[in-house]
Amino acid sequence: MNRIYLIQERCTGCKSCEIACAVQHSKSKTLFGAIAERPAPARRLFVEEAEGRRMPVLCRHCEEAPCVASCIAGCLYVDAKGYVRRHKERCIGCWSCIMVCPFGVVTRDAVARIAVKCDRCHKLDVPACVAACPTRALQLREVDELPAEVRRTVVLRESGARSAS
Ligand code: SF4
Ligand code: SF4
Repeated sequence: MNRIYLIQERCTGCKSCEIACAVQHSKSKTLFGAIAERPAPARRLFVEEAEGRRMPVLCRHCEEAPCVASCIAGCLYVDAKGYVRRHKERCIGCWSCIMVCPFGVVTRDAVARIAVKCDRCHKLDVPACVAACPTRALQLREVDELPAEVRRTVVLRESGARSAS
């Protein structure tokens, strides 16, 4: 299973990912069409700021997903690819998922009174946020690939630090 990873030092906080998410989940799927839509299309990814740092916060599609466990209506489920998705017609608006998500990435559609969350752009090979990121801070990776990549980054960082000292 692949996941969306953030390489923090590459993120400039430009919000291209957040905008692409909202456009992908709009009716028109175009930027200008999405801007004109009412209600405005909801983003599923949030570029947040804290102490001068900005970065996107997005659904991890947790293996033991608290949101799925908390959903008494059978709305949230894990699909065959391992993505946490929703049967939106089953949502009863109890907001249990919002209360238990440790990343704060479930929101609510206040008009339809249903929960809104990342569907990992399951019909696309590359999710809209990943495709939109100009610095490739967001990347699709197989889960097992990441540790080796992080180790290579450590080698580069450490060897650079030694040669500079
Ligand atoms: S919405 Fe939150 S709890 Fe549910 S899978 Fe995503 S990160 Fe995990
Ligand atoms: S598009 Fe890339 S650089 Fe811009 S905020 Fe998102 S992750 Fe950061």
